[in-house]
Amino acid sequence: QTFSEEQQQYLMGFAAGCDALQTSRNPTFASTLSALGMLPATTPETVPSPLPPDARLAHGVAQNQFLDRGLKLSSEEQAKRSKDPFQMRDAMEQAASEARFPKGTDVFLYKYHGLFHVAPAQNAFMCRLRFAGGMTNSHQFRGIADIAEKFAGGYTDVTTRSNLQLREIPAEYPLEVIDGLVELGVITRGSGADNIRNITIPPTSGIDPEEIIDTRTLARKMNHYILQHPEMYGLPRKFNISFDGGGRTTTLADTNDIGFFAVRGSLDGTSAPEIFFRMELGGITGHGDFASDCGILLRECECVDLAAAVLRVFLQEGDRTDRKRARLKYVLDRLGQAEFLKLVEKSYGKPLRQVPREYVELPRTKAVSGAHLGFHPQAQPGLHYVGVVLPVGRLSAQQMRDLAQVADRYGSGTIRLTVWQNLLISDIKTDDIPAVQAAIEATGLCTSATNVRSGLVACTGAAGCKFAAAHTKQHALKLATYLESKIQLDLPVNIHLTGCHHSCAQHAIGDIGLLGTKVAQGEEMVEGYHLFVGGGFGDDRGIGRQLQASIPATEMPSIVERLLIAWNDGRDFREQTFAD
Ligand code: SF4
Repeated sequence: QTFSEEQQQYLMGFAAGCDALQTSRNPTFASTLSALGMLPATTPETVPSPLPPDARLAHGVAQNQFLDRGLKLSSEEQAKRSKDPFQMRDAMEQAASEARFPKGTDVFLYKYHGLFHVAPAQNAFMCRLRFAGGMTNSHQFRGIADIAEKFAGGYTDVTTRSNLQLREIPAEYPLEVIDGLVELGVITRGSGADNIRNITIPPTSGIDPEEIIDTRTLARKMNHYILQHPEMYGLPRKFNISFDGGGRTTTLADTNDIGFFAVRGSLDGTSAPEIFFRMELGGITGHGDFASDCGILLRECECVDLAAAVLRVFLQEGDRTDRKRARLKYVLDRLGQAEFLKLVEKSYGKPLRQVPREYVELPRTKAVSGAHLGFHPQAQPGLHYVGVVLPVGRLSAQQMRDLAQVADRYGSGTIRLTVWQNLLISDIKTDDIPAVQAAIEATGLCTSATNVRSGLVACTGAAGCKFAAAHTKQHALKLATYLESKIQLDLPVNIHLTGCHHSCAQHAIGDIGLLGTKVAQGEEMVEGYHLFVGGGFGDDRGIGRQLQASIPATEMPSIVERLLIAWNDGRDFREQTFAD
């Protein structure tokens, strides 16, 4: 069989992401790679890892200025040095055969494989997957549905990084899950712990009639760069990267450690505008900061190399002694952006192209959270995409199979996950829209949502996360149902419920943010929320301010209702968003 250059690149990246044992457990795949000259021709049993074991983490974790100063490393840093998480396969197999969950620092090291032991919320593993740019397909959806039914809780959750998570995996099955995923072309490597998380792009990349540039290739290249550079698994803390193609749907790139934004600009202010990317650094809204513009313009082909240079500086400069201050934002706070960029430029090896802001055309269509829901014409004439509403991201295995069938029968098989915990099916012919609408409704899902539900986001919460102070997903659904029965809003309002200060559902950027907490009620401590208002993203970026503290969960819906009624009644006709 002949593979295109693009397919070969994919296979090479895929090979680099497989552990030696996983590769050897899949003899067909291994011999395919050998036949292509991507692995030495050898018997499947002795296929070596494409990356020498001792280079996997050593290079990344060894270089850091905190090591030179003799400071005490955090326990996670010590764990990384005591054991290479990618050389734990035998121990993991042994533990699975004895139905044992990991203990001590192994709990952290399992996360390098995307496996989270989530006790006490559930005495089970959660497995976080990885899809470059949130792009997946019907084949993978069917396979993941099978895995969810056989080895997990029979459902998946779409996350706020355009990703999927499988839950309720018993101690016997973590390797069945990750091996099964590898056989589908889905790699979980680095989806947890101190690694680069799912690369996000707008779900409408390549089909949005208004976008400046299709960012799917960038997401894939970044993903493969990580897979092929072992030092990238030695970061001081987790790291988020996003590429925004400048279209109608947003991916919240300014909440990432690195956000790339497509713009049209002129290098000297007089020549015809060309397509470039701006780079913003240091976004982490749970710590009160959006990413800041660096004032440089990059060509598309330069973005991945520059991101790698930023990561190399982070490897060197990130704090390995204090987990709370280990993210990129704190390196930028300590060094200042100008000094940080000097180090990046040195690592990049070429001068950065500083361009005055006025040479860049900034106006773009205002991105709205629910704009992708329902049917929309694509850039390709005669084709449409449909945004499907998922109740705070949850999909049953059967719904996954049904949607896979819709994607195959009426689309191109492509399924696109969003940071809004929804998904898109693309490439639907105009004449097929009614049939697709009916097929989606038959799954129990829908294609439109009220202005309350279209921007409703909730993290996993107490049902599956040990940090949670509240059952966020359940409360989110109850809140939406309650508000829909009480008020009608003619503008979308984003409501984000997050279970703890880690802020996976980014409460700080919601129009209304709810942060889980325990509240004293008489003698008892009950689940509740701190209420924030005024957050936003993109043109309306803002960090929400706390309006009310410690509201019991039972009282929260009526308080949010009163807040929305007051806003609705007192609104000026010029106000087009809650942020206005
Ligand atoms: Fe868990 Fe906190 Fe993240 Fe929610 S925000 S999923 S409670 S860590």
